[in-house]
Amino acid sequence: MDLAGKTHFYSLTLNKLQELMMGSGKERFRAQQLFKWVYEKDLTDFEQMTNLSKDLRLQLEGQISFALPEMVDRRISTDGTRKYLFDIGQCQTVEAVLIPSDDRKTLCLSSEVGCNMACQFCFTGKQKLKRRLTAGEIVGQYLQVKKDLDPERITNIVFMGMGEPLDNCEAVFDAIDIFKNDFGLNIGRKKITVSTSGLVPQIPLVTASGSRLAVSLNAPNDEIRNRIMPINKKYPLKDLMAACKEYTEKAKDRVTFEYVLLKDCTDDIEHAKQVAKLVRDIPCKINLIPFNEHPDSGFERPHKSKVFQFQRYLLDKGFHVTIRKTMGRDIFAACGQLTSLYKGHPQKQDVLTGTLG
Ligand code: SF4
Repeated sequence: MDLAGKTHFYSLTLNKLQELMMGSGKERFRAQQLFKWVYEKDLTDFEQMTNLSKDLRLQLEGQISFALPEMVDRRISTDGTRKYLFDIGQCQTVEAVLIPSDDRKTLCLSSEVGCNMACQFCFTGKQKLKRRLTAGEIVGQYLQVKKDLDPERITNIVFMGMGEPLDNCEAVFDAIDIFKNDFGLNIGRKKITVSTSGLVPQIPLVTASGSRLAVSLNAPNDEIRNRIMPINKKYPLKDLMAACKEYTEKAKDRVTFEYVLLKDCTDDIEHAKQVAKLVRDIPCKINLIPFNEHPDSGFERPHKSKVFQFQRYLLDKGFHVTIRKTMGRDIFAACGQLTSLYKGHPQKQDVLTGTLG
């Protein structure tokens, strides 16, 4: 609800809107009609929704709002990556990043302001969790970027922005419901990926939603993972790997393991050997991410030769391994660099010198 007591339309799944309609004595199918006007025809003026009675239009006017998070900044990288800053009220902001490639345009969404998982290499993790976003604020990021991009289209969605999506399950899975609903934004469920740091008990929810699963693995063993990802103390690798295996069996899909390569910490050939052993029974793709620097992280980006050596080892073992192309580094939009705008947050990075500004 907003300050005027109105319900945010973009937070409502079709089911929830149906309940709202029936709760106020209206027919269930009115919810589908509304979804079509808003998501298919892009219309938010009740007056123009001609198949709704005058009485219902008046009622909805007083009941529902279409507020979207305001886009307060947009930066475009030399490689085409776009970083958006959204004002979500009470002096809080979140970022979303649009990453273009030859055949797709992937939108990386935020699910929380700050994050409680405290991964040591992540800039967002330096901010404690301030607030979990609503489904409407998540869908709102998508709608604002969609408008900005028109006539080009967003093809894929990843929950890899600020926050741990499985720490905000209700809002994230409601947003996914709206994204994939035929009467909603009608995005194929396999075009949506939820990335988690390893909240094991919530992984079955990803399976149930039909979206794809990515796991921020980032370490070859419990000893290192405990150090750089505190969540591992609660859900160690044995449990995480079992949950991933179960996902692959039930979803009949492979899991993507993200692995940030940190110089002299996770980039050794011995680590590659341990990773190979760890994931050998799980249908997967491994995505290596050379670390993107940010202030006071205490970590460095490994030398290219180390990155290739790590990849070579895993390729030779028969894994599908990619090295993520670093995108948006000059506008501080690369993986692990997102944060709310606050004092001391760099917004630019010189790609040649690495200088932050
Ligand atoms: S990597 Fe993800 S889960 Fe970890 S601190 Fe950053 S935003 Fe949170």
